[in-house]
Amino acid sequence: MKTIEKIGLGLFLIGLTVFTAVPFFGTYTLTEELVLANTKDIHQEKMAEILAPMYGREFGSNFSFLSAFGENFNTYNDNLKAQQLWDQVIWDDYGFALAKAAASSPVRDNPWLWLGLSIGLAVLGGYLYNFRQYSDEPTGIKNNGIFHSKLKNRGWLGMITGGYLILFYILLYWFPAYLVNLVWLVEPVSRMLSGGPASQWFLYGLVYTLAILVMGVRMFRKYRGNKYQQLRTASVMFFQTAFAFLIPEILVLLNQPYFDFKNIWPLDYDFFYDYQISTFLSGGGMGMFMLIWGILLIIVGVPVFTYFFGKRWYCSWVCGCGGLAETVGDPFRQLSDKSLKAWKYERWIIHGVLVLAVVMTAVTIANYFSGFSFLGNFTNQLHSFYGFAIGSAFAGVVGTGFYPFMGNRVWCRFGCPLAAYLGIVQRFKSRFRITTNGGQCISCGNCSTYCEMGIDVRAYAQKGQNIVRSSCVGCGVCSAVCPRGVLKLENGPEENRIIDLPIIIGNDSIKLNA
Ligand code: SF4
Ligand code: SF4
Repeated sequence: MKTIEKIGLGLFLIGLTVFTAVPFFGTYTLTEELVLANTKDIHQEKMAEILAPMYGREFGSNFSFLSAFGENFNTYNDNLKAQQLWDQVIWDDYGFALAKAAASSPVRDNPWLWLGLSIGLAVLGGYLYNFRQYSDEPTGIKNNGIFHSKLKNRGWLGMITGGYLILFYILLYWFPAYLVNLVWLVEPVSRMLSGGPASQWFLYGLVYTLAILVMGVRMFRKYRGNKYQQLRTASVMFFQTAFAFLIPEILVLLNQPYFDFKNIWPLDYDFFYDYQISTFLSGGGMGMFMLIWGILLIIVGVPVFTYFFGKRWYCSWVCGCGGLAETVGDPFRQLSDKSLKAWKYERWIIHGVLVLAVVMTAVTIANYFSGFSFLGNFTNQLHSFYGFAIGSAFAGVVGTGFYPFMGNRVWCRFGCPLAAYLGIVQRFKSRFRITTNGGQCISCGNCSTYCEMGIDVRAYAQKGQNIVRSSCVGCGVCSAVCPRGVLKLENGPEENRIIDLPIIIGNDSIKLNA
């Protein structure tokens, strides 16, 4: 390891350690004023009364603060639930807002300093570690020793990384109140961009974008000499930074609805939820434009672009989940399961999620236009279930936390309903295919090993068969790592795209199955 890489790694680890320690800093003190300022009008009086025993007490950690909060708040709600007084139960969760308001810590007093010492150092370290990688070596993709790596082949380092990510996602989705100090860290950045306070989602968006940018530099180094990979990486870095992170924040600054112009239903599963539709309809010309843009992407953008370029135009060039998978997740791409069993599960699960998303949306729209007389509040329960099981647990905890266990495209391969939709178009009506020059294949298996979607590319190459698979995201890495130039990603005429008569290689003969 070069000196600059050692310095980079050291800085990254210091930054990560500070980032991990920050949630434990400070004390928490609640007052009646804070409760009144951070609860809805209809709950103010009741909340002020429920939390009165906590006023003026100084709590030494967020654990003791949140446990006292839970005790008071849950006792009140549990009593009402026992008496079935459902309309008096307070369903809103004020834990995060009140913990954030009650926190007093060095991070809150000096956020820029702590931001620099945590996320800043981690980013600088990551950049220093990556920007000179492979500089003494000739171009060409190096995966040397990857299956001996403790990080990249499910070793102890991989387990720790996966565990850390899973824990972070669980806290982010279900227990954000424990992260309020981290949110204070990014408060000034949020104020600068949108003019509003930071939430856990702003923290997540910032960290997510920076991770893509830093690991994008690694991709530039690792795949230098391969124009397709360079352009693709630049594209996901751009779309994440501009479309997913900056533009939505700037829209809020301009008093417009928060909107990611490249997020498409059914991945953007709440696009047709009643509160979203109401936001669009009440958002004036811009709100209307967002609604129409979103619908056009679903019914025109997806089929047309996928027809001409395959699903890669979205999954490997534009999507935020794909962007993270292709940068942060790249070191883990070889962990995808190539078995036929995994392929079978993949088809059942991903299409099952697509059906669930379509049914949920259809029911939601019908209910909305019937003035909620069709199903009443049932759609809210459906939304909660989908948000919990698919939006949070599958896409977040499993989708990213499982990188070091199951590869970098777990969500895209097994769960993303948009990938399923794009895949159906790619499989049946598209000009995209990967062509194979089978005679050149030496069966080394590099292509299958590094296919993040678990496609056994070699099996196709050995038969000289075009690869037309709904799951292929067109990342191009199979082609990049092939030592014999067998594979080529192409858009061409639909005729002869799907070759059903491949060469069959048996134990004692090679024959054309014609
Ligand atoms: S088949 Fe090739 S281009 Fe398609 S997902 Fe696998 S590695 Fe990427
Ligand atoms: S990487 Fe190339 S040579 Fe090796 S098995 Fe795949 S297609 Fe054949």
